[in-house]
Amino acid sequence: MEKPDLSDEVKSLIPELVRLRRDFHRHPEPAFQEERTAEVVAAYLRDLGLPLQTGIARTGVVALIEGKKSGRTLLLRADMDALPIEEANEIDYRSQVPGIMHACGHDGHTAVLLGAARVLAEKKDRLAGNVKLVFQPAEEKPGGALPMIEEGILENPKVDAALAQHLAMMLPIGQIGVRPGPVFASTDEFRITVLGKGGHGGMPHETVDPIVCAARVVEALQTLVSRECHPAKALVVSIGRIAGGQTFNVIPDSVELGGTVRTYDTALRQSMEERVRRVVKGTTEAAGADYQLDYRYLYPPLVNDTDMSRFVRTIAGEIVGETRAVAHDLDMIGEDMAFILERVPGCYFFVGARNEEKGCIYPHHSSRFNFDEDAMPIAVEMLVRCAERFLTNNNFWRAE
Ligand SMILES: [Zn+2]
Ligand SMILES: [Zn+2]
Repeated sequence: MEKPDLSDEVKSLIPELVRLRRDFHRHPEPAFQEERTAEVVAAYLRDLGLPLQTGIARTGVVALIEGKKSGRTLLLRADMDALPIEEANEIDYRSQVPGIMHACGHDGHTAVLLGAARVLAEKKDRLAGNVKLVFQPAEEKPGGALPMIEEGILENPKVDAALAQHLAMMLPIGQIGVRPGPVFASTDEFRITVLGKGGHGGMPHETVDPIVCAARVVEALQTLVSRECHPAKALVVSIGRIAGGQTFNVIPDSVELGGTVRTYDTALRQSMEERVRRVVKGTTEAAGADYQLDYRYLYPPLVNDTDMSRFVRTIAGEIVGETRAVAHDLDMIGEDMAFILERVPGCYFFVGARNEEKGCIYPHHSSRFNFDEDAMPIAVEMLVRCAERFLTNNNFWRAE
């Protein structure tokens, strides 16, 4: 890796970032149970002398860095939750909680935002405006961003723009990925029950077979992608669960299907519940069966503001070099920062954290996931420099 352009303050913070991250890594907590994590976060922020609120959406923490002069407010967000995964890494800071692991890098995100808080708190006399630091629970479903918004984190002071970063195994260490426009897809969920009439496997004529019908439903739903969606638009319909029947010679009464619908297109997203219902209704009706459909809207698509993305990419270029500030690919996964970016302009970007030499090669959510800790100071530098620039230069981020 070529050396990134890090300030002296950030360089001197590196041992502390590692210490914080490894402490969070040893003590992972799943969605909405981030109590110890929130306590460590709150104690650190209190130590910096920042006003803060705790217990927002159960375990969320919000602190405010008030600049000397008044101005705009920039929100910086980190997620704090771990995953229900048993860690397979043999490292001395391995998870001490059986079955729970920081396998997405949120331990790093929490440490990075604390580091950025320290640097920015020391510079607050030079800032015009505020930095609102948001430590969020439950990014990995069911989602902590929306309940935090409902508890008012975008008000008092009103947030003008928002940034978040993810340490990313898709990118090598030393690269930063920024993409204007859509980044992540909406992630909605459906559950279908095909209601038939069970009976003897040798006497199908006396049954309404929900298994044959469910098989048709699975196939028919794919035509929503292949025949109804504009070919230039991205849509995914995946069935991840089929459950029905107990044994080979009994036709069951019902079959359950569970699946997900994903797209970047808001209008298409909104049309999908009715389309799924039409297909399920028509297919079950044709078989003489009945159905139940439970359709849940989870995360909206995550869409980056064009001007904010250009702003972030410029700063990424300054820190890691023009050629290593790269365009990031679209992904059909979900991210609840989307709720914040639906309401205020902002940018969600990626800080490369893969490093073959250190064995940091496993993907997010793998039991062997581990990121290159050298990515943390780069992420801190990004957040600090974006905040400083956003709050000292009124026109920098928006081309007028
Ligand atoms: Zn994740
Ligand atoms: Zn994540």
